[in-house]
Amino acid sequence: MPRPIQATIDISAFSQNLAVARQYATKARIMAVVKADAYGHGLFSAVSGFNDADGFALLELDAAIALREAGYQRPILLLEGFFSTEEIAEFQRYRLSAVIHHEEQVAMLTKSKHALDIFLKINTGMNRLGLTPDRFSLIIQQLIDSQCAKSLTLMTHFANADVPSEKGSVIQQFESFLSITRDYHYPRSVSNSAAIVRYPETQSDWVRPGIMLYGSSPFPDKTASELRLKPVMTLSSKIIAIHDLQIGDKVGYHALFEADRPMRIGIVACGYADGYPRHAPTNTPVLINDQRSRLLGRVSMDMIAVDLTDIKHAGLNSAVILWGEGLPVDEVAHYANTNSYELLCAVAPRVKRKMMR
Ligand SMILES: *Cc1c(COP(=O)(O)O)cnc(C)c1O
Repeated sequence: MPRPIQATIDISAFSQNLAVARQYATKARIMAVVKADAYGHGLFSAVSGFNDADGFALLELDAAIALREAGYQRPILLLEGFFSTEEIAEFQRYRLSAVIHHEEQVAMLTKSKHALDIFLKINTGMNRLGLTPDRFSLIIQQLIDSQCAKSLTLMTHFANADVPSEKGSVIQQFESFLSITRDYHYPRSVSNSAAIVRYPETQSDWVRPGIMLYGSSPFPDKTASELRLKPVMTLSSKIIAIHDLQIGDKVGYHALFEADRPMRIGIVACGYADGYPRHAPTNTPVLINDQRSRLLGRVSMDMIAVDLTDIKHAGLNSAVILWGEGLPVDEVAHYANTNSYELLCAVAPRVKRKMMR
């Protein structure tokens, strides 16, 4: 038997979550975001589950080309666009749509004499990517005049759509987007998962859901199941060693956990080199034989210790779920002081993905 850790990918959950996104955004076309190897789930598993999407968005050119070469025909949007003039020929050859967020990219495109489908991105307050509002009219006119845009879509991105107390800033970004683009009648794309659900008025022509399609909640104050989202990835492993502890016995590096009663612990084949968060503290939940238990002490590179004291029938080879079915990744992320995006993307290449239909 190989090392028992694996990530089971439930393909039907992909399509179920996509259907939920459609119910939230009935009028918009859906660009399923599959960057970072589909948030760590595996690009081609995700693509097989997202049959019904109207397009894909990602930012790795090799992955976009692989999608085309596999026969995918709908729009594929590169969220950071091209990085050099040489790449533009590839965009043209594979019919890839490009975000243009910087004037330098317009200069490259004009010089290349190629024409692409362009998503022109405006910085409405996040100050990450996008043209500054006062340059927008000039730049879009350059694109129109140079005829290097086969089509144009106008785009922005929210900084705070997932933060319950930041409604004002979302509305402000959206209103600023509307006012900057008022005289230009092109399709628009604004909303990520959080905005699709919480700010339906922002949905426009193309929505760009990511995290919700993987079955995780974009919000700290709403669970995935409340949003009818289903976990796609279940990270599981097994108990590979057992110890009985006396009061005062210590566990793991730096003896961070000390038994305050006689205990039974299990060692699980899963560590931070598999993508389990090293900062997860004692008491982070795990499932053992479908019963809730907890992590003990420091996460090491290849192993963690878990509490078996009150777990019925636990022993060598007992099944452990780190997150997924029965234990939301959002909950583990909360304990580890991060978000589900980081945990999902960090699942290491050495963890085999197993597709389940
Ligand atoms: C990642 C990304 C998304 C998807 O965001 P989620 O929060 O995962 O829904 C949408 N738009 C852009 C520009 C992104 O980079």
